Amino acid sequence: MRVFETIRSDEHEEILFGQDPVSGLRTIVAIHSTTLGPALGGTRFFPYANEDDALVDVVRLSKGMTYKAAVAGLNLGGGKGVIIGDPSQVKNEPLLRAYGRIIESLGGRYITAEDVGTTTDDMIMIRRETKHVAGMPTTHGGSGDPSPATARGVLAAMRATAMQAWGTDDLAGKTVAVQGVGKVGGDVVRRLSAVGVKTVVTDVNQQAVSAIAESCGSTVVDADEIYDTDADIFAPCAMGASLNESTIPRLRCELIVGSANNQLASADDAQRLINRNILYAPDFVVNAGGIINIAEEAPGYSEDRAILAVDRIYDTLTRVFATAKDRGIGPSEAANAIAEERIAMAKQQTLSDRTQEVRSA
Ligand code: NAD
Repeated sequence: MRVFETIRSDEHEEILFGQDPVSGLRTIVAIHSTTLGPALGGTRFFPYANEDDALVDVVRLSKGMTYKAAVAGLNLGGGKGVIIGDPSQVKNEPLLRAYGRIIESLGGRYITAEDVGTTTDDMIMIRRETKHVAGMPTTHGGSGDPSPATARGVLAAMRATAMQAWGTDDLAGKTVAVQGVGKVGGDVVRRLSAVGVKTVVTDVNQQAVSAIAESCGSTVVDADEIYDTDADIFAPCAMGASLNESTIPRLRCELIVGSANNQLASADDAQRLINRNILYAPDFVVNAGGIINIAEEAPGYSEDRAILAVDRIYDTLTRVFATAKDRGIGPSEAANAIAEERIAMAKQQTLSDRTQEVRSA
């Protein structure tokens, strides 16, 4: 793969390829932007089929983190780390500590946290080598697993999207189809059930889906059937790219609001949803609850303050829809524009601050 070509169009600041022959660690850390602050983003531990897939994933995810933090109004940039390998087979202390040393070498430009394939316990291990770790367990003074905050944010986003589409943010009596009932999706289903929403669920993990169906009374469908399910809202909470050329024509919902990162397989899919009159709440606005919660660690973590901050996703998303309406563009384009304008303003400020410093030196 031509690495510079892959990263050029997205203007990444830095990509670090790291390895540790002793533990077998192979990792790529992508720092997309530090304009608004240190690049924060979790570490994905995944058995990528090849190195190209890992690179494509990490650059996409790190750019997404920049946009997520920018729209959420956080003083953070965007970054991401991937470790190549099956976490159930190769994750151990030497490997995680070697990874911690690689993060330490970045001097705080990248701060890690958990993501798919990594846990708060792994963060304890990484923390032995570097202080640039967020999302530590509450027992260690951190904010703990970000998933409940992400799920809370998804519900706030569902209400804001419902208000936009239906003129009411009361979800009671509605039906939501949830794809993936893992840490976030499972909690989304529990929160929806608690407010009188009917849920239809699917997961490739049969154990996870049975447990949720039993505790929340959800209807279960096969993994592929979820796209044909009649529902008011479709909530993608599994892996990325589930909204694409072949799935969008099948959807039978009015709104899409879910936690998965990079739900649209391509930029064209945003237009495909508009053509089908389906209101799409941009993923990186919807799923910012986790990072908002983690960002609350900086001033000393308070759960009450974090909850208030996460609930503001409702207002942020309302602003995205308003911007879309004002400019005659789709919500995805509006969310991107809000992020890009904030970053451009900060860049200008930084440049003028530097010029001042040089002049007065
Ligand atoms: P998870 O691994 O706990 O859950 C994902 C679930 O999706 C698993 O149960 C898995 O079996 C299921 N799944 C995978 N492929 C599927 C398919 N084709 N059909 C149906 N189910 C499938 O992960 P999570 O932490 O709940 O994250 C879910 C999504 O939300 C991911 O895309 C993640 O990047 C995103 N996200 C998570 C957080 C967080 O705080 N955990 C924050 C922001 C974004």
